[in-house]
Amino acid sequence: MSAIKKVLIVGGGSAGWITAAYMNSALNGRKTMVEITLVESASIGRIGVGEATVPTIRQVLQSVGISETEFMKKTDASFKQAIRFDDWHRIGDGGYYHPFQRRPMARIDRAGADWLMSDRSVPYAETVSVQPAFSDLGLSPRMGGSKDFGSPFPYAYHMDAEKFADYLRDISVTRGVAHYIDDVTDIEQAENGDITAVKTKGGLSLEADLFIDCTGFASLLSGKTLDTDFTDYGQWLLCDRAVAMRVPYDAYYPGEVKPYTTATALSHGWKWDIGLTDRRGVGYVYSSQFLSDDEAETQLRAHEGAHTEGLEARRLKFRVGMRPQPWTKNCVAIGLSGGFIEPLESTGLYLIEFAAITLCEHFPFGEITEPLSKRFNEIMGSRYSEILDFINMHYCLTKRDDTDFWREVQKDERITDSLKAKFDFWRFKPPSHSDFDDQLRLFSHQSYEYILYGMDFQVADGVLPPGDNAPPLIPADVRNIVEAGKTRLPRHADFLSQTLGRRVGA
Ligand SMILES: Cc1cc2nc3c(=O)[nH]c(=O)nc-3n(C[C@H](O)[C@H](O)[C@H](O)COP(=O)(O)OP(=O)(O)OC[C@H]3O[C@@H](n4cnc5c(N)ncnc54)[C@H](O)[C@@H]3O)c2cc1C
Repeated sequence: MSAIKKVLIVGGGSAGWITAAYMNSALNGRKTMVEITLVESASIGRIGVGEATVPTIRQVLQSVGISETEFMKKTDASFKQAIRFDDWHRIGDGGYYHPFQRRPMARIDRAGADWLMSDRSVPYAETVSVQPAFSDLGLSPRMGGSKDFGSPFPYAYHMDAEKFADYLRDISVTRGVAHYIDDVTDIEQAENGDITAVKTKGGLSLEADLFIDCTGFASLLSGKTLDTDFTDYGQWLLCDRAVAMRVPYDAYYPGEVKPYTTATALSHGWKWDIGLTDRRGVGYVYSSQFLSDDEAETQLRAHEGAHTEGLEARRLKFRVGMRPQPWTKNCVAIGLSGGFIEPLESTGLYLIEFAAITLCEHFPFGEITEPLSKRFNEIMGSRYSEILDFINMHYCLTKRDDTDFWREVQKDERITDSLKAKFDFWRFKPPSHSDFDDQLRLFSHQSYEYILYGMDFQVADGVLPPGDNAPPLIPADVRNIVEAGKTRLPRHADFLSQTLGRRVGA
């Protein structure tokens, strides 16, 4: 067998084009090491959601070598510095933030313990991060005049999913990725099960050494052809439907573009609200065991208000879970074809970025690929398990009992064993750095603390020294940076308007 160097990506959604763009820059930077081709269907659409990201996206865009300003213009992007969770703990609880930033900590991090020993009259996140205040004030995480991707504060983006894929397509094609628009109808396999070629409706036969399945939930190569296993997460994550709308800015948020994602818990799931420059993306993620599609759409429209009249609502079905062997034979499933965890923490695009990077790191140039695929699968499996626990935590710590759905998600059998083990341990000690061995993880103990304390998680009695029941101390650096931000950071909508050269958000 010759060295693997021809790659065929099937599918041109965010997964296909992130993989193509990243692989092309990572492997073909100095000299061409792989020949990349992507085929996508014009008749089978993209999923068209997936508009909130996490900060790792910036490293990916930088690695691909694109201009941040151009990217933002082409994809109607805005900044995101946190997720705000409303009504998750109890209805009308005031909400809490999971910000990206946190003040530098000493090796022994006492912030959580100190807060638990206080009267908790200030939300935990406000005692360790400046971004809840910046979010409330509608401030941009970037200062005017700063360089592309440059800011002392971590941030990600909200962006138009279709325009993002189109933008990466244009860049990739200009830089040498071959592109076909055609429907894949047949897959040819060798006797050992390897895929040898895909056939298209238009009569093409596309051969490759390595195939990347980015066909979304269809999972045409990995699922339908190679019949790889699927581990269902439905026991722990009950939501399996979404209804999504694109809502123009009108009188709703005049002149504002929120610099954070809002996740509001509704009766049988939650609603996302993602502000782009020229519209908002909103959607209701819910459980079909408890709510019909019609009821969900009615609730979403009612929550949004009269301005959604006449706007199209898209209904989406999904299965939560993952393929434990996303790299099987000579085919790697990336994106929805390889798995999906519901979008509460915007991890879909992150998992794609992560898979693309990990695949490049383990790219099979030689004849023996098994050690590489084995390790790739282990690494991806850990990412899914990690994210499953983190999302599961948002539901099972709720105190809501207003519907069957919220009563159900708190039940013992709805909590993963590994999350239960974490809870059991954290009853005796607030989360800290050394609780996690896995250096590749997305969510550190800091992220866990934002959610745990936002949801009023309690340590066992007597575990901490007695507190004085005084208001939590907000450290001087947090207070000073918030004050400085008020004068030095532009309003988010103003920064975007200036960057784009036109008024946004109104
Ligand atoms: C309700 C919901 C909300 C989400 N929100 C977020 C979020 O906020 N943040 C986030 O990071 N992620 C989110 N995600 C996940 C995110 O949308 C996906 O991870 C991302 O869009 C990647 O999708 P994809 O490219 O795998 O699939 P798709 O976008 O479905 O693309 C599939 C591609 O395969 C092609 N294709 C299919 N069959 C064939 C065929 N036979 N021949 C040729 N081509 C074919 C299609 O034409 C298309 O180009 C969300 C997902 C859902 C369901």
